[in-house]
Amino acid sequence: MMQIFMPLNFLGFVYREMKGSMANIEKMFSLLRQAPKITDAKDAKPITVTKGEIKFNRVSFHYKSNRPILKNISLTIKPGQKVAFVGSSGAGKSTLMKLLYRFYDPTEGTIEIDGAPIDQVTQQSLRQHIGIVPQDTVLFNSTIGDNIRYGNVKATEQDIQNAIQHAYLQDFIDQLPDGVDTLVGERGLKLSGGEKQRVAIARTILKKPPILLFDEATSSLDSHSEQYILKAINEVSKNHTSVMIAHRLSTIVDADVIFVLHQGEIVEQGNHQQLLDKDEHYANLWLVQQKQRQHSKIPDKA
Ligand code: ATP
Repeated sequence: MMQIFMPLNFLGFVYREMKGSMANIEKMFSLLRQAPKITDAKDAKPITVTKGEIKFNRVSFHYKSNRPILKNISLTIKPGQKVAFVGSSGAGKSTLMKLLYRFYDPTEGTIEIDGAPIDQVTQQSLRQHIGIVPQDTVLFNSTIGDNIRYGNVKATEQDIQNAIQHAYLQDFIDQLPDGVDTLVGERGLKLSGGEKQRVAIARTILKKPPILLFDEATSSLDSHSEQYILKAINEVSKNHTSVMIAHRLSTIVDADVIFVLHQGEIVEQGNHQQLLDKDEHYANLWLVQQKQRQHSKIPDKA
């Protein structure tokens, strides 16, 4: 259904994207091209998500048979929880998200949302219930208002205004020459990484998915942008199950549960304080990042 309502210029964008002409490729779009064909089960039904509980039951996964990526992952994310996956580069964090969005099926094990195995429901309905805020949001050539409206083409002007406020975009939009009617993208204004991520959050606020996946940008944002994004995430994740991939641990200290992935296994889980008290993987990662932060705050000698 969503495809039917896709704005024409967005389709134009997808076409250009397919030709590989743009450098900034939204992770998930590139995934759509890479992923092997996942098809709906014969008797697949639309999923009904009322609570937003996510379960991984003994999930293992490899892209190539000689290299296991996820190993026997079992976890439960309770309805409305805000959880984060952390761990070194290549640990398998994005792969977990890809499985949840069903870009791939696990090699072993099952994933359930509200008790329904996700390989038994229609992919379209699954994806309608999951909102993604990617690392690098793609904006298409239109106004900033249209870019936000893409989250829900049936949204009213009032809905869009609310989304702008809750995504902390109001001050930014007030400075634009034509406000929400300002053109963005290739032909118009260029947005910073943080501003683009807030546009993605505004889109997600309009979509109101019961489950939210947030892929934190790896490139460092200035602390002002980071604060705005954190506030916006807190808004959008209220009353939703939110799953974050976090690179900067400072952004997830308030998560209900932090899962620490190491070489495809969950080696620790708990909240920030519990994991610090454990004084193992997470505590080490935290220490390293704290040192890096302090180091980057030391002013250069004149
Ligand atoms: P990062 O923090 O750097 O984003 P990550 O924890 O999200 O890392 P993944 O992207 O899940 O890690 O990757 C886990 C492993 O799977 C990596 O070794 C990666 O090279 C490999 N991998 C990822 N995508 C593919 C693919 N499409 N085909 C083959 N191997 C892949």
